[in-house]
Amino acid sequence: MKAAIYKGIGEMIVEDIPMPQIEPGAVLIKVKACAICGGDVRTFRHGHAAIKTPIVLGHEISGEIIEVASDVKNYSVGERIIVAPAIGCGSCSYCLSGWQNMCYTRKTIAHHYNGGFAEYMLVPAGAVRAGNINRIPESVTYLEASLAEPLACVLNAQEVMNIGLGDSVVVIGAGPIGIMHAELAKGRGAGKVILVNRSARRLEEAKEFGYDAYIDLSSTEGVQAVMELTGGLGANVVIVTAGTAEAQVLGIAMASKMGKVCLFAGLPKDEPMIQMDANHVHYKQIAVYGAFSSAPRHNALALEMIRSGKVSAKKILSHLVSLDKICEGMDIVSGRSGLRVSVTPFIDELTDEIKQHSEMAIIK
Ligand SMILES: [Zn+2]
Ligand SMILES: [Zn+2]
Repeated sequence: MKAAIYKGIGEMIVEDIPMPQIEPGAVLIKVKACAICGGDVRTFRHGHAAIKTPIVLGHEISGEIIEVASDVKNYSVGERIIVAPAIGCGSCSYCLSGWQNMCYTRKTIAHHYNGGFAEYMLVPAGAVRAGNINRIPESVTYLEASLAEPLACVLNAQEVMNIGLGDSVVVIGAGPIGIMHAELAKGRGAGKVILVNRSARRLEEAKEFGYDAYIDLSSTEGVQAVMELTGGLGANVVIVTAGTAEAQVLGIAMASKMGKVCLFAGLPKDEPMIQMDANHVHYKQIAVYGAFSSAPRHNALALEMIRSGKVSAKKILSHLVSLDKICEGMDIVSGRSGLRVSVTPFIDELTDEIKQHSEMAIIK
């Protein structure tokens, strides 16, 4: 089968490798779509300490089941599914309370097992057992479903932060993750959603989503602008989707008294420190939250949010590239010229779906 093999920094080569073979407890899928995560691009360009090469990356996977181990009873051939990548052990306190993303012995698809930038992928027994497979609703396309995993990470963060009715919400970063956060905050009943970004172009493109305000940091002082938009109080919730110290410090400064700040994106491994005004956090009783990955239940909920149109995956999926053109897809993500980019190994089989995605650019 064809797969994009990540061999080391800057090296991703589409070549033939043996088909994965079914194992006890496992499920074999034909990959229909696999979206490119910002993390995939970072690994491709800068490497990743926990990822041993060669490996197939890609963890935002939708596909069709083509083979099921004889001891797997709850799935069958032909089912349309997504696969949540974080595989919990199933027995630690985090797994038992539904936070498999926090499992101490978590294994991850595309870190410990080959991922979805390939024609076929084995869903390991641990993932099948832990409920990492979710069925795609009939009205949702495979392409839309490939956005369920990033949306699940967003759902995880917003569950932890518990955004409430009428909250003023600032989202820093107008990329696909920022848009998902803003869409979901609206869906949760936020009063005012303010999108903040360093480039005017992305903000301009995000105007079709109809948020309450857009702050362009290249021409506006961000904290002051948020204060003006919130009657001098600051934002009840700030979500920082940009992975820079500068954005995190800015986000903390934008929060209101009793505000909540989510550091959604990680910082580079060699530069994880930030310098912030701790008194601002102390006197204003600000809560700073982390958020990482998602649990299987967030992936199921993400599919439902896409099905119900609460989050428009069609608007967020801006590009589709064939597996052969995966490096062009990586370039689109790093160039920030679209929103989410999905990769498909069987582009000709998606003709009917592609017709439903009229605004999506296609690179064969
Ligand atoms: Zn991802
Ligand atoms: Zn566990």
